[in-house]
Amino acid sequence: MTQRILLIEDEPGLVMTLSDRLTSENYAVEAAHDGETGLAQATSGFFDLILLDVMLPRRGGFDVCRDLRQRGVTTPIIMLTARGQTIDKVIGLKLGADDYVTKPFEMLELLARVEAQLRRTTHSSSVELSPGGYQFGDVRVDFRRAEVCRGLEVVELSAKEFKLLRYMIEHRGAALSRDELLNEVWGYDISVSTRTVDVHIAGLRQKLEANQRHPQFIVTVHGLGYRFAG
Ligand code: CA
Repeated sequence: MTQRILLIEDEPGLVMTLSDRLTSENYAVEAAHDGETGLAQATSGFFDLILLDVMLPRRGGFDVCRDLRQRGVTTPIIMLTARGQTIDKVIGLKLGADDYVTKPFEMLELLARVEAQLRRTTHSSSVELSPGGYQFGDVRVDFRRAEVCRGLEVVELSAKEFKLLRYMIEHRGAALSRDELLNEVWGYDISVSTRTVDVHIAGLRQKLEANQRHPQFIVTVHGLGYRFAG
């Protein structure tokens, strides 16, 4: 199976060189050119490995690394640090990176590091988020195709329901307030209220829970909001 690498790097020349080389080694490569975009793509859990530059526009590599780990994303991360920035290596590893390569690097060295990380995680990586899917109960969510199946049946979700479900899965285990869900899923749209969140939660429960009156996965956090317990 082709292994997927996410390259979060803002230097166009390096993106091109690395993409070409990794592709020629039979990896599937996707690139993100800033930290925000990279974080969003990496959170999908679709990738087997992340190459993460430290100096990035919009959100720095250290922040991206920390946020990914806080969200429970276990994909191996190799940080690309600037020459001589020994401190970078220490910080990166502390924040949950698995390895680092100092720029400018030899392509062969990088490839060896990539291989080593992929070998290390091939048997232990969480199948639940890879490749691009998440399973709870008899429900399977394919983030890549934006498709949800229950057993063998495709479940029709609205775009907002899917986005809400995805956000909850990405932050599973955490108590999520209605305001947070509203801001993250609907954005700053003044025409919607927290009641909208409740309506969509009810929709998701109806479609995905065995017993919507006693939900097993999309649970209520009294006085606050909801939590995904899948
Ligand atoms: Ca950079």
